[in-house]
Amino acid sequence: MSDKPAPTAHTKYQESVAKYWDYENNKINVKLGEIDGLHHHHYGIGETDVAALERPDEMREEKIKAELHRLEQAQADLLADHLGPVVADDRLFDAGCGHGGGSLVAFQRFGCHVDGVTLSTVQKDCATQYAEQQGAALKVTFHVADMLNTGLKSQAYAASWNNESDMYVNLDDLFAEHARLLQRGGRYVAITGLINDVYGMASRSVSRINWHYGCDVHKRADYFKALARNRLAVATVIDLTQAALPYWRLRQQSHLATGIEDDFLSAYQDSSFQYMLIAADRI
Ligand code: SAH
Repeated sequence: MSDKPAPTAHTKYQESVAKYWDYENNKINVKLGEIDGLHHHHYGIGETDVAALERPDEMREEKIKAELHRLEQAQADLLADHLGPVVADDRLFDAGCGHGGGSLVAFQRFGCHVDGVTLSTVQKDCATQYAEQQGAALKVTFHVADMLNTGLKSQAYAASWNNESDMYVNLDDLFAEHARLLQRGGRYVAITGLINDVYGMASRSVSRINWHYGCDVHKRADYFKALARNRLAVATVIDLTQAALPYWRLRQQSHLATGIEDDFLSAYQDSSFQYMLIAADRI
């Protein structure tokens, strides 16, 4: 393991995030990514096919993997549904792109340009390989960059998003950068886990989720206030908490479980945590 800091990490914390994602090698994401070259680092939504669990042992695990991937893909598709009327000449910005699954979903759907940024050099190289394999490399580019300070061109983007990546950054800094990059009338979309203000502070399960990923999930009210302060007017809000439960129940039963499944389920069920899609327009 190298001790060299990621070149664009601006703080010690960001160096640690970069390192986490450089060396994160959870079998679950790698295995699911192998299915069709769309490698997601986010969770899934929708009903599971219970028949997956009724197979003989060897086939059961394969079927569970396919199901988890299908639900993660459904989550990425839902995000893409909210990006607006994107055309092939448009540019989109994927903030905290991981292995690039979301950028490639957008490219496949719209044929548009996408810039994805991650702090992790390993992720950027891997995402670039996936883009090459899918014939997307001319239009989809991955960068090692801080999403708070990307160096990308101002007002050049028709849409932008964070898919489970806002919990690593300060929201005002993040939304200021999206507002700078987006054209007027452009669309911002987030899918994220948020603390439910009605519960109070972070529950034990949410605190364990923060510890597990080295992140700091935001409160729902803070999210909306920060959007409003940064010229992002909320257009759509969907509470996906219930839709997220079947994915976690299925994942709990897989050999690929990472140990955080119980905490997601209890945080969603005790209503301390909400899984939400939020779409806003740049005004
Ligand atoms: N959006 C992806 C990956 C989510 S995992 C997906 O849906 O699959 C979180 C990602 O956020 C990781 O790729 C991590 O490198 C990235 N990240 C965290 N802080 C960041 C920052 N300041 N700048 C850029 N990327 C960041």
